[in-house]
Amino acid sequence: MFNSFNEKEDRRKRTLTTAQLKDFKAAVGKCEICGEKLPISVLQHHHIRPKEKGGSDNLLTNVIVVCGTCHDKAHSGFYTQKQLREFLKKRSKKVIEQIKAIERRRQNLSKKGKSKGSKKEGDIFSIEIPKIEIPKMKMPKIEMPRIEIPEINIPDLFGSGKKEKGRKRRSK
Ligand SMILES: [Zn+2]
Ligand SMILES: [Zn+2]
Repeated sequence: MFNSFNEKEDRRKRTLTTAQLKDFKAAVGKCEICGEKLPISVLQHHHIRPKEKGGSDNLLTNVIVVCGTCHDKAHSGFYTQKQLREFLKKRSKKVIEQIKAIERRRQNLSKKGKSKGSKKEGDIFSIEIPKIEIPKMKMPKIEMPRIEIPEINIPDLFGSGKKEKGRKRRSK
């Protein structure tokens, strides 16, 4: 029931920080779909394969820099994931090298941060979601005891009770 949730959790820990995204956008410097050169404050990023569908944060293979207009198009289904990936192939060697450097730093960070949270980076993207231990809802094994019904001669247990029940209640 909760298995899929736990798998997602692992991925979320390595979420991109705003600093990494800034570096990423600076390295690319334009919308990778329409090619418009824009300041990083305007540029957006888009996960080609959505994270909620198992897409990774890998800047080289799954994240594309886009302008607002192209981002909307990407979400409206105007481009297929395959088409979006084609845009990634247009990156220059220089840009790829820069992105690789960001990826390397990122992986180092996540290794360091493994021991105890990542306090240094004060942005919201780096907040590690604490592991929530969800108790597995295991149904206790209930072994049905064998009930052997002994033969009992049932005495007239109800004899006395019947009389009381049988009394008519007075209504006010
Ligand atoms: Zn664009
Ligand atoms: Zn998007």
